[in-house]
Parts: sequence; C-alpha cells; structure tokens
Amino acid sequence: MIEISNLRKRTSGDVTRLEADIKFLDMTSPYKEKTLYFELDKKYGHLFADDSYDAFVLVPLWLAMLHKQDLHICGNVSKKLYQNIKWYVPKILCDFYNALSPVKFIVDGFTEPPKKRGKIVATGISCGVDSLATIHDHFINETDQDYKINALFYFNCAANGDFDDPKWQGLILKRAEFCKLAAKDLGLPCYFLNTNLHAFRKAKDWTKFLYLAIYSCVLSVSRAVSRYYVPNALNYEQIKKFSRRDDMSAFCDLYLVPLIQNERTELIIDGGQYRRVDKVKNIADWSIAQKYLNVCNNYSEDASNCGLCDKCLMTMFPLEVMGKLDAFAKVFDLAKYREVAEDYKAHCVAKNGRRVFATENFEFAKENNFPMP
Ligand SMILES: [Zn+2]
Repeated sequence: MIEISNLRKRTSGDVTRLEADIKFLDMTSPYKEKTLYFELDKKYGHLFADDSYDAFVLVPLWLAMLHKQDLHICGNVSKKLYQNIKWYVPKILCDFYNALSPVKFIVDGFTEPPKKRGKIVATGISCGVDSLATIHDHFINETDQDYKINALFYFNCAANGDFDDPKWQGLILKRAEFCKLAAKDLGLPCYFLNTNLHAFRKAKDWTKFLYLAIYSCVLSVSRAVSRYYVPNALNYEQIKKFSRRDDMSAFCDLYLVPLIQNERTELIIDGGQYRRVDKVKNIADWSIAQKYLNVCNNYSEDASNCGLCDKCLMTMFPLEVMGKLDAFAKVFDLAKYREVAEDYKAHCVAKNGRRVFATENFEFAKENNFPMP
C-alpha cells in the first residue's frame, strides 16, 4: 500500500508550500523524497487548494500502478476526480504503458463542492509555438471573459529541461525569467510554481510521467483556477496517424485530460485543431512571438535558440515558406539556418509520411508552392 496523508499548507521564508506525506507501507520506498509538494511565492499562497488531495492523486496513482501497490488517500478528494479514476483512468494508463497494473484506489471522503469557482483562466507559458499559439487564440483573440486567459503559469516540473542536472536547472530558471518578461509585455501575471514531483520519475519514463506532473500542478491551484488550457503539440489527425506510446500527449491526452477534472477546474486540450505549421502561421505577425519565441531542444548558456536542432529547424522552415523569417532575426540566427536549410528540406522530403513534423512541413511547402529539393 502507498499512503498519502497529512495534507498541509505552510509558509517558510518567502515561499508557501502545499504538501503531503507519502509512505510505502509494504515495500521499501525507492525514492529519497518523503513528501510531495507544490511551492509558490508566499504572496500567491492563497491560490493553493488546501482542502483537497486532488493534486496528490495522479503521481501517487502512477507510482502505485508501477510498483503494484494499492493507493490510500487519507483524506478528501473531488468526487468527480474520484469517479473518473475509479472507472476510467487506470485502463488508459495501462494501455499507454505496459509496466503499469490496475490497483485499488481508496479515499477517506470527498471535498465539499465549491460555492463559486475561481476567477483565473490560465495556460502555461514556455514561449514555444504551442504555448504562444494558445495564448494568441485565448488571450489576444478571445472576447468572452469566462474563457479569456487572464494569468499564466510556469510549472517547474521537469517540463523545460533535465531537472536533475544543475547546468539545466540554471537554464530552466533563465527560461522562466524570459517567460516572465513575455508575460509582462502581455500585461498578464505569471506564477512560477515549483514542485518535487519530478523526483518520483524514472529517467526512462520522463515523457511518460511528465504530463501527470503538469496536471497535478494545475489541480494544486484549483481553488483559484476555473479553466486551464493545455497546449497540445499534434492535431487530431496526426494523433490518429502518428500515435506514440512514449509520449502521453500524443497517445491519450485527448481522452485522458477530460477525465482529469474536479468541480472547480476544467482542463481544456487546446491546439488539436491545428498542425504546428498552422500555429506558426497564426503567430508569425505577432510582435510577442517575434521577440520571445523560444523552441530549442538544446542547452545554451543564455537560453537562446540554437538554430540547428529539430525544433528550431521545423519552426524556421514554415517561416521561410511564408517569407517571414526575417521578422524573427531577434530570436533565430538566420545565417546559421541558411547554411543547413537545404539539408533540413531534404530531410522533410525523405521522411514525408513517416515523421509527423517532416510530413506537415513537406505538405506546407506544397500548399504554398515552395520549391523543395
Ligand atoms: Zn535549437
């Protein structure tokens, strides 16, 4: 049995933590950490939902299923989340990752439904294409205040680089600062939320586990957040065609995320209506994107785009096709790109139909009568 107990909110120095203990009752814990926590600047500690274990369910459930231990939450969770986990979620997780097994999920009670929902409508900001495209649609273009983004989050849960490597930690913090500057230019508050959930992942399970950590971060602030847009990388058609078992977002997010809800917070998968090239097109004339777009997979001291990795190339190529590359000279080294662009185009031709982004870039070139090698 894995037991989650002693939910508390506590402030120490400049930070407030929402925290609970994790105990392995029938096996030795393979993890150093004895608690799971979420952490915000103490100014924002009131955002935490400290009357519910909802944020402490998903990662412990994954661990319970991985180690074949039942899970006991010694307190209240949302009835809606409980029902969804009881009936549906474990089957999806088992289909996704065959190292998982169904286990018993026990809770002591249910959270009181809220009298009113929080006022925050949010998404995560990374300054990547998916994140900026969501902000562009639901902040710049949205007119309905119930659905218009009014805050941004940066979850430090290993989504932005290798958490265990101190060199990457520096970069993650630089990226966070960069995102805060973009949020300031947008006139939106940006909350930096730290967590230790990543400490419970196995290295090879990184992309499998990551999304549960992100959704848990959202649930930790569900007292304040009524809607949260989850930017998705692939479109509906691509998910059918290129579904991948190593990436939860590409495998099952479309039907898993609607189950990760409580009575306070709705999570909305956003971006499935677009290919990545369509998102690049949507934000290509936006000054915020031209100043802040940051997509790179590689490490660099100053968190800049390397201009040579897969993600940099697949972003610059559609900009070139549209004749808008020069507008992005602040964020990409265009001279470097021009040296390798022909090789990247040849790669798109060669991998068309087999690799998702090579395929859509090849199609995009064709749609725009752009010559390919
Ligand atoms: Zn790069």
